[in-house]
Amino acid sequence: MSEFELIARHFAGHDAAQGVVLGVGDDAAVLSVPAGQELVVATDTIVAGTHFPEVTPPDAIGWRALAVNLSDLAAMAAEPHWALLALTLPEADDDWLTAFARGFFTLAVAHDVALIGGDTTRGPLAVTVTLHGTVPAGRAIRRAGAAAGDRIFVTGTLGDAAAGLAVLQGRLVAPEAHAAHLRERFLRPQPRNALAGVLRAHVSAAIDISDGLLADLGHVLAASGVGARLAVDRLPLSEALLAACGQAVAREFALGGGDDYELCVVVPAARAAAFEAAAGEAGVAVTDIGMIESAPGLRCVDARGEEIVPPRRGYDHFGDSP
Ligand code: ADP
Ligand code: MG
Repeated sequence: MSEFELIARHFAGHDAAQGVVLGVGDDAAVLSVPAGQELVVATDTIVAGTHFPEVTPPDAIGWRALAVNLSDLAAMAAEPHWALLALTLPEADDDWLTAFARGFFTLAVAHDVALIGGDTTRGPLAVTVTLHGTVPAGRAIRRAGAAAGDRIFVTGTLGDAAAGLAVLQGRLVAPEAHAAHLRERFLRPQPRNALAGVLRAHVSAAIDISDGLLADLGHVLAASGVGARLAVDRLPLSEALLAACGQAVAREFALGGGDDYELCVVVPAARAAAFEAAAGEAGVAVTDIGMIESAPGLRCVDARGEEIVPPRRGYDHFGDSP
């Protein structure tokens, strides 16, 4: 299969969408950005053995490569539209490509994303997606913008994906029903793009959780020049995570574990109730886990409000390798 056959068979024909003047097949794509909108662009590479274990099924690799970029646009409160796919493959395996494309396009269709071009090269497996979206001019949500008194919310549940990776790598053993849920959360993260409009209406700062809550909230605090108080007992934990590793370790996964692709958003206190209601209407559960303070630094408190030392990253419990 030549490079051109490969592209034609697996990646062409998914480029019809609003704003696409010219899609796959020429030297570059041509896009039309509606008046009054700004272009929002993100790119992320996932590398076999670094960002996903070698055992990851190809459809999950396709899904994940797009999901991590959708999540970046969700955190900016932008609407995703147009993707570029740069694929580096050790070989042109038709079954592998079919499964990869199925994972990629299942998520792309769900989010109305067109594949407008890319690049295909030979080498160790790596996938780069560049995702373009739009936002009404001046309305993108940034990491800077949090102010003392604002509430801190997260979407969904935290820690599942890191525990799922530990399950995939044989470092964490759990009953199969729970193990399957956790694995799925790592392999097929559900980016929170449904909240883009809600974020634009209510939120003062946002980030997606790719490296772990403590690390990513830390970026918001640094960019905003503020600190925070986090109620560790309010962290949203799934039943599967609690059953698989108990409350103490589950909290460590939730604070330190990456790959969840949930959102962490900061909301002015006066808008907190409206934000919670609007998120619920959009079908996304959100949890208030703390408050922004003017004193720099991140303070974790227990149920009695007493300061505790944030636990270390959950997966350290299981070592760095199987
Ligand atoms: P060039 O030699 O100009 O770089 P390519 O041969 O790389 O062109 O690509 C030809 C066309 O196929 C371009 O429109 C490019 O965007 C598209 N393309 C290449 N690889 C992919 C891919 N993996 N997915 C989608 N489109 C691709
Ligand atoms: Mg090229």
